[in-house]
Amino acid sequence: MTPLSALQKYFGYSAFRHQQEAIIQHVLNKQDVMALMPTGGGKSLCYQLPAVLLNGLTIVISPLIALMKDQVDSLNVSGIPAAFLNSSQNPDEQRQLAEKLKNNQIRLLYLAPERLFGAENKLVPFLKTLNVVQIAIDEAHCISSWGHDFRPEYLMLAQLKTEFPKVPVIALTATADKLTQKDILEKLNLHNPAVFVSSFNRENITYRVTPKRNSFKQLTDFLNERKDESGIIYCLSRKSTEELADDLKSAGFSAEPYNAGLSNDVKAKNQEAFLRDDVKIIVATIAFGMGINKSNVRYVVHMDLPKNIEGYYQETGRAGRDGLPSEVMLLYSPGDAGKLQHFARIEGNEEQSRIMLNKLNDMVMYCQLQSCRRQYLMKYFDEAFPPNCGSCDVCLTEFKRFDGTLIAQKALSAVARLNERFGVNYVIDFLRGSKSEKIREEHKQLKTYGIGADISKPDWQRYIRELITTGYLQMGGQEYPILNLTPQSQAVLKGLQKVEFIESETTEETHTHHEAPPHEAELLSRLKRVRNDIAHNENVPAYVIVSDATLLEMATFLPQNLDELRLISGFGDVKLARYGRELLQPVKDYCKEKGLESKIAYKSPKRERKAKTERAERAPKTRKTNDTKMETFTMYRHGKGVAEIAAERGLSPMTIESHLSHFIESGEIDVLEIVPAAKVPVIKDAVESYGSEMLSPLKQILGDDYSYGEIKAVISWMNKGGRFS
Ligand code: ADP
Ligand code: ZN
Repeated sequence: MTPLSALQKYFGYSAFRHQQEAIIQHVLNKQDVMALMPTGGGKSLCYQLPAVLLNGLTIVISPLIALMKDQVDSLNVSGIPAAFLNSSQNPDEQRQLAEKLKNNQIRLLYLAPERLFGAENKLVPFLKTLNVVQIAIDEAHCISSWGHDFRPEYLMLAQLKTEFPKVPVIALTATADKLTQKDILEKLNLHNPAVFVSSFNRENITYRVTPKRNSFKQLTDFLNERKDESGIIYCLSRKSTEELADDLKSAGFSAEPYNAGLSNDVKAKNQEAFLRDDVKIIVATIAFGMGINKSNVRYVVHMDLPKNIEGYYQETGRAGRDGLPSEVMLLYSPGDAGKLQHFARIEGNEEQSRIMLNKLNDMVMYCQLQSCRRQYLMKYFDEAFPPNCGSCDVCLTEFKRFDGTLIAQKALSAVARLNERFGVNYVIDFLRGSKSEKIREEHKQLKTYGIGADISKPDWQRYIRELITTGYLQMGGQEYPILNLTPQSQAVLKGLQKVEFIESETTEETHTHHEAPPHEAELLSRLKRVRNDIAHNENVPAYVIVSDATLLEMATFLPQNLDELRLISGFGDVKLARYGRELLQPVKDYCKEKGLESKIAYKSPKRERKAKTERAERAPKTRKTNDTKMETFTMYRHGKGVAEIAAERGLSPMTIESHLSHFIESGEIDVLEIVPAAKVPVIKDAVESYGSEMLSPLKQILGDDYSYGEIKAVISWMNKGGRFS
């Protein structure tokens, strides 16, 4: 099977995202890989797909035991056998799992690192007796003390390549910074690894920063527009998460707190309730969220200023993993920056304090931006991005702009005159012709001294900030921050490049919301209800069944049968068989009520074409088959078995089986000639539950003891009426 057909079959997706395909190819070629992708980019698939393609065991190292269950549920729902090993399992369960592993019945095994390499551990010798084909390390930045989430137990993973030298290792993280990247590669001892860095842009997220005034009212206004949606609200202190959750509850919202100070029971309960949509809002400190793969988080609110851009980007990244439009809002008050400055200073560690303060400063800059926030974020992660994203509050606001080329030239020439050796405040004082003795005498003699006296200090700060974000100036300096020119500066100084500034600080938003695709809202909520019922019955979170994005596509393209449903993103074979019919029913009912028809023709021409050609190939053959079926039947009646007939006729056993099925349906062969009596009710039951449209999911559900031939035979017999003669 090719990676692409496995993507369709098991995950129901029609195309790879980012560099998934190249990453997967490397793993299949047994090479070590490090993949950096933003949250929601689709990292899991990079090891899950090789895991289904390779006939062996994939070990997945993941930091949070609580989240393994979710991952394993999701895989099992898609018909991929997966399991996790943790301390909550009793010896009996562990023995059963070991048995399955020995029989090569598990494709993915999730483990915490300390399970693997903890004291007196017999797990590694056991795993070495198995056919381990891949090792995936999720949240690989946890191995680096440079990262924001260092976990000492990850350091044990350094032994992996020694213990499993031949097994390809794939390290995955959403942490972009270079230092952490380098650290991961070194600490894991990867062999000649291929490194894949995807764009960190999250285009479905709208970024907003709002001046903090009456924060509770601002928050409830925001939440009132999103009553049925899930979201995370981050606060700085544990206490405020609990107070805010209480206040929200009193105001009628479905909210629970989460912070490191709560008991494990309460934390687990609140997290679980959130994952299952029983609670809509989680009010949390940054302790919450790592590895949370709830895909339908529609918004993230920061009630307080985050300490740095890295953390902020991770936290906001938890919105919209399903790719649907999502919003993040930060309530900013300059006072917060002051409070954090206090925290950033670490006694006795000047170096560390300076780094932390600089990071905080970058965060403050972000809040004060008057240019595209996305561009700033991308630039922070060393990625070029055009100046107008169209989906941040700045880009969504109509600003009055004016030609600021002259102002820019003044600023740039001041920086040049001062030999690029001074910070923002000095440059501004110099431009404004400050009489202060801080300005050196020799500088007061320069022609540029005082050329910007007509502009106020706050305005100068704003202009310089903008010149930095637009790349005409940059911050440099070892000991203290200084302003430098950039390669783009010259064009402005020479008058070849115009610069625009925003007229004033007061802004008015014109349009705020993303345009939603035209879908049937009422149908969507009916579909959600049906999905939630299924999830409830199967005891898994709703998004494990199918994602919101999948339901939205259904409510948009209105599929009328399983063939059409297969074209909806997110339906692999097993999901289609298990839940397809149940989810189709509300669509069909709704369309009947409203007199609507399928719009599937508007969707994804690629897969549609494929489905059509398959059908076209099959059609003309049907006429000839009567004779060939007859021939098989005659041989069968002469006492020959399936394998024998297949060999003699030069056809596949599958073909022979389907010939015979034809005669079961016509009543000329009794089903019990082909299928042992005990198996018939089991197969019948599976067909009744999951439908007969597709065999391979039935085969997966029934397991190795049941052959395709037997399944086909029972289906034919059921078509005939399903009675024993
Ligand atoms: P990450 O671990 O990088 O944060 P996930 O692996 O959780 O992201 O993937 C985010 C979502 O995107 C999941 O719902 C996943 O099923 C979906 N996804 C992954 N790859 C694809 C793809 N090629 N096409 C469509 N959806 C995808
Ligand atoms: Zn923007």
